[in-house]
Amino acid sequence: MNIFNPFIRTLLPLTPKSWVRKIAKPYIAGESLEDLVNVVEDINLAGFTAATSILGEFVNDRDQALEASMDYIEALTEIQSRKLDSNIHVKLTHLGLKLDKELCYSNLKSILTKAEETHNFVRIDMEDSSCTDDTLSIFEKAQCEFDNVGIVIQACMRRSKHDIQKLIALKANVRLCKGIYIEPRNIAYNDYRNVRENYSSLLKELLTARCYVGIATHDEWLVRDAFQTIETIGLSPSEYEFQMLYGVTPQLRLSIRESGHRLRVAVPFGPAWYPYSIRRLRKNPTIAGYVLKALFTSEKNPL
Ligand SMILES: Cc1cc2nc3c(=O)[nH]c(=O)nc-3n(C[C@H](O)[C@H](O)[C@H](O)COP(=O)(O)OP(=O)(O)OC[C@H]3O[C@@H](n4cnc5c(N)ncnc54)[C@H](O)[C@@H]3O)c2cc1C
Repeated sequence: MNIFNPFIRTLLPLTPKSWVRKIAKPYIAGESLEDLVNVVEDINLAGFTAATSILGEFVNDRDQALEASMDYIEALTEIQSRKLDSNIHVKLTHLGLKLDKELCYSNLKSILTKAEETHNFVRIDMEDSSCTDDTLSIFEKAQCEFDNVGIVIQACMRRSKHDIQKLIALKANVRLCKGIYIEPRNIAYNDYRNVRENYSSLLKELLTARCYVGIATHDEWLVRDAFQTIETIGLSPSEYEFQMLYGVTPQLRLSIRESGHRLRVAVPFGPAWYPYSIRRLRKNPTIAGYVLKALFTSEKNPL
């Protein structure tokens, strides 16, 4: 962990909201659906697909969980009517996972049904380790009923090697990421090199089994390693995609596209940007380090 991280965590509650807005702005489309539409149109015009998400997590109120699912349904309607090339991704704790699993599944099912009607796809994000078992079992249940659902696997988690075996048997559509949550050492690798190695090995296994993989990383070393794996297996560009976060490493994004690979940009939006940003920065201050680095480097965000 960076030596500045404890300071960042301590200073957060004292940081004015306007500063947090400034920090979050390059990474969030805005508060409204119209803001989202404008950003996704630009992303599509630049030759990338998008993945829309509504900011929010760990809701502790049934009405809020229901409201989140209605907001996703509205977003799916808008994506179809504005002819945007964007799928969506959801956090199960936003849909009520920590309140009532049945309620969460019912909310997810409404979203999946709407996505099916609008010929779209829904990916279930992976949250912290307190959610992993429930997230995987809800995904499996959903996959029995719907074809348009995918999941996420985190390379930092020691259990992921085991978890992908079941996903391979299900021919699941998997996004592979490093994992954003800080987890205890007994269940997660916290060493940068080990996480990279595990990412590389999980990716090889998933792609060799012909699972569709969303290769979600901004780590140039892993991107080059993925290029090599794709070439060795002999995959066509329709069998995988790269994925990156809105506002992060735009130059790397362009070079991936120029090398002939498809890339999806994940774009969050919604009024809950402030509590979400604070929670994220507090949970993982490394992100604040990235933001500071980006502010002082010449790489400007065209998208
Ligand atoms: C499309 C997508 C979906 C994701 N979904 C999930 C999920 O469901 N669950 C989950 O736990 N994690 C998720 N993540 C986050 C992921 O797990 C990592 O925490 C994050 O991508 C950083 O890891 P990295 O592979 O980019 O490598 P790193 O080595 O962490 O980053 C490489 C470089 O990218 C830049 N960078 C990376 N992240 C940021 C950032 N947030 N802000 C500014 N610069 C940054 C920095 O310059 C850094 O040096 C997702 C990531 C992506 C791209």
